[in-house]
Amino acid sequence: MSEVLPFDPLTTLAHLTRGPRAGRLVHARTLPAREGRTVEWPSWVAPEVTAALHGEGITSLWEHQSRVAELARSGRHVVVATGTASGKSLGYLLPVLTALCEGVGSVTGRGATALYLAPTKALGADQAARLHTLAVPGVRTAALDGDTPPEERRWVRQHAHYVLTNPDLLHHTLLPGHERWRGFLRALRYVVVDECHVYRGVFGAHVSAVLRRLLRVAARYGASPTVILASATVAEPEVLASTLVGQPVEAVTQDASPRRETVVALWEPPEAEDGTRRGTVAETASLLADLVEVGVQTVAFARSRPGVETVASRAREDLGSRGCPQGSLVAAYRGGYLPEERRELERALRERRLMGLAATTALELGIDIAGLDAVVMAGWPGTRASFWQQAGRAGRRGSPSLAVLVAADDPLDAYLLAHPELIFDAPVEACVLDPENPYVLGPHLAAAAAELPLTRDDVRWFGAGVPALAEQLVAGGVLRRRPTGWFWAREDRPSDHVQLRDAGQAVQIVDVRSGRVLGTVDEERALTTVHVGAVYVHQGQAHVVTHLDLEAGVAMVVVGDPGWSTRARTESTFTITETESATAWGAAHLCTGRVEVTTRVTGFQRLLPSGEVLGQHPLDLPERCLVTQAVWWTLPEEELALAGVGEDAVPGALHAAEHASIGMLPLLATCDRWDVGGVSTPLHPDTGLPTVMVYDGHAGGAGFSRRGFREAVTWLAATRDLVEACDCEAGCPRCVQSPKCGSGNDPLAKAGAVAVLSHLLSERSVSVPTG
Ligand SMILES: [Zn+2]
Ligand SMILES: [Zn+2]
Repeated sequence: MSEVLPFDPLTTLAHLTRGPRAGRLVHARTLPAREGRTVEWPSWVAPEVTAALHGEGITSLWEHQSRVAELARSGRHVVVATGTASGKSLGYLLPVLTALCEGVGSVTGRGATALYLAPTKALGADQAARLHTLAVPGVRTAALDGDTPPEERRWVRQHAHYVLTNPDLLHHTLLPGHERWRGFLRALRYVVVDECHVYRGVFGAHVSAVLRRLLRVAARYGASPTVILASATVAEPEVLASTLVGQPVEAVTQDASPRRETVVALWEPPEAEDGTRRGTVAETASLLADLVEVGVQTVAFARSRPGVETVASRAREDLGSRGCPQGSLVAAYRGGYLPEERRELERALRERRLMGLAATTALELGIDIAGLDAVVMAGWPGTRASFWQQAGRAGRRGSPSLAVLVAADDPLDAYLLAHPELIFDAPVEACVLDPENPYVLGPHLAAAAAELPLTRDDVRWFGAGVPALAEQLVAGGVLRRRPTGWFWAREDRPSDHVQLRDAGQAVQIVDVRSGRVLGTVDEERALTTVHVGAVYVHQGQAHVVTHLDLEAGVAMVVVGDPGWSTRARTESTFTITETESATAWGAAHLCTGRVEVTTRVTGFQRLLPSGEVLGQHPLDLPERCLVTQAVWWTLPEEELALAGVGEDAVPGALHAAEHASIGMLPLLATCDRWDVGGVSTPLHPDTGLPTVMVYDGHAGGAGFSRRGFREAVTWLAATRDLVEACDCEAGCPRCVQSPKCGSGNDPLAKAGAVAVLSHLLSERSVSVPTG
């Protein structure tokens, strides 16, 4: 294979669908190539910067890059949200590097500084490498993360112009120690927030608070930096960016970079004899093997790290069993690699010594692998934004490309396969976050007060809730009120009490024999996955849990496959503490507000691989209480009867409607079904009515259910359509069954769910006058 032939996606697709696979291709669409639009090089760019970029062959700009550069240069906060490989970084590098060059000539030698924030270390390291290659004379660039030794940190603080770091370091180090950083902060002209679409939900609320603390502290030193944000294509990027920063941000969304022709195919794994679908991962592995066999360089994305391992090893086996020597050209990429290893991988791909790669999501990859022929995705990647980002990884210079989505066995994938227009013709989702979530903002206000005393003027940075929250912190002994403001009242550091990522104490899973830590689960998941008697699978190896100590945060396991799996049974109830908004649809009511969800793990089932239940076992575990946001609807019993759902069928109908609507919420908000939960009941004490409730699975709420309330018609209609269109008889994982149901998917009434949802939606027209 010394000669690389031009790649033809349609011929390749025909090859994949030959013979018995003909029916698996559900939909294919060709996206036409697009010409790029270039503009003149801005005259204000520092000559050193122009020279460095010219040296790399960059002599003109795409229109959107220039727009970003001009806005930032004029001091306006700006967010750029364009496709993968559209050159977002050049848009911010021009104003940033120019300002830094201009500052080099000042008395201090540091007239201007800038901060670059990436969500992962790998991305920060990549930016640092890029800037070192650019080597703009006089500009000192440094990467700073948790592993940077103290000596080097001091140098960075005192001398660096451009610091590449992450929100965690700001939170734990730079902001608490801002006095030592005052020289840097005083000169701060720009803050670049890369991959800002990652900052959604609760994590987004944390990062928003950190950014606002940064701007507040910078203002104390007389600096008002311009913020430049870069995002994958998301809906309403200006809303996301303005929410993150807490100030108006302008958006640039017209992508002017050229695009190659892409064929996108939607693929359904075959149905096995027992009615279940062939595994998405297995199907992906076999497509990867097929593509590699005919010399098509391909990356396959899987959702989980074990999935990545399986795709790679099965593709290798598959090729081996066909007698193909190409098995050795397939590798797995799991993240966590050293920069040198990543560089080697990139090189092997470029030189086509590697023809197939199985990998986790594009971002974790953090490597430059644009330029392959084909992409295969094992399951919907969660959002349209990440779908297009992953599809964009294919496309060799000048050649068209192929992207194949292999559907997984769940409601969203099934729905999207039946509605390809929602992939191709709908706008990408909005990223939602709630920066005023008091569970997140409270601790950050405490941290802010420790940085600089908090006053009423701080509503400017953190919103109108500041005084009330500060008083709560006073009552809790965290802050002390004085005439000049609120002060940190404790001996320790407030930032030590707040983790930006993954709240909740972790439970370590320890192998009894070797004493080795196999992994961790958060406390909430520990109750359902590592209770005594649970079968816990780690890298394909089954273990049985012999001991769980929540206080110590340890679960002990022994290796061994008992031949069954386990499934926890839980009971959840909820109380409504506050109704924030409500609408009436005829006799139905739809509300959003605050709820308290109480969940108790009551026992577990042992299941054979066939799904047959071997036995039930009670467990005595503590209750957990979650205070969060929710959306709920009620429909009186007589209306349910009118819809044809009799008293006995009500619990199953509501339960099925709840499951399906949880599965469909990710259609509207960038969350996945594990970020939300639900409870349904034929009689709720607070509403006095049959009630279905869907809640944000993070304390305080993340904005997902609120979005469901705002877009209720779209959400519930899509849910109804999905369940109605599913060709199963009585409910399956593609419609109303849920992989995380606490009552083992019992009772579930598929037809009842359709009837209830249809009736609910028809009630809406009752309340809306027509004509
Ligand atoms: Zn079904
Ligand atoms: Zn359930």
